[in-house]
Amino acid sequence: MNAQEYADRQAGITRALIALVLQLVGIFRAPKLSRRDWGNLLAALYPHVDDARRQAAELGREFFDSQREQHLPDLPRHNTLLPAYHPEWFAEAMEPARLALSRPGAPEEAAAQVALRAAKEVENGGRRAILRAVDADPVVRGWARVATGRETCGWCMMLVSRGPVYTSADAAGLDLNDTSAAELWQKAESGDLESRDVIDELMTRWHPGCDCKVVPVFKISDWPGRDAWKRAEDAWKKYTKGYGGLDALNAFRRAVESGELDVRDFSIAA
Ligand SMILES: [Zn+2]
Repeated sequence: MNAQEYADRQAGITRALIALVLQLVGIFRAPKLSRRDWGNLLAALYPHVDDARRQAAELGREFFDSQREQHLPDLPRHNTLLPAYHPEWFAEAMEPARLALSRPGAPEEAAAQVALRAAKEVENGGRRAILRAVDADPVVRGWARVATGRETCGWCMMLVSRGPVYTSADAAGLDLNDTSAAELWQKAESGDLESRDVIDELMTRWHPGCDCKVVPVFKISDWPGRDAWKRAEDAWKKYTKGYGGLDALNAFRRAVESGELDVRDFSIAA
């Protein structure tokens, strides 16, 4: 399985889930959504999200295995458990969407927010399955974030331009889960944290609607998305010339958001 095929199959899983979520939100929607209404909606959604997330995890695992076999055909499969999932994790991840949907006369966009958050949980099933395999498998060198060009934003492009995260214990001690991305970026800028550690940490953050993928790196000179990374790296250098820190990031995002940079040129499809 190549990365494009992986992304296409994942998109199929995500699309089906989004359609289902929107349908269920339509059924459970109330003029003023109470906590109980929300709880009922989550209970109706969870089995579908859990199922789609498991499909995503199995697909991610299949992609990892096929990449591994391509690079190391003589090695037996390295087994790891698929990531677990729980209703409480789902409820926590969905909470921001509850606030949007419970506002009186919540706009259509609030329903979309519910769907995009649920979709993120599903996409993460594949990402976590691969990251878990990367962590556990001694022959893998690292992993990279790659873009599909479909939902790629300036932020994602910036992370794609950073290339692979190599497996090492260096960043493992950082517990930065509660720190916002912008705060992290500033900490790196002010020298509080190694910027490489910050980037590695940011690599595992995905916005709702993000369809970036995790790909394993078995060989530094040959992995899916390597050419796209090199092009993204060149673009980063070009568009951030003369800028530092947040200004550099903003300059790069402007180039993406204005369409000056076409994200499709930096995707696994290109
Ligand atoms: Zn993304």
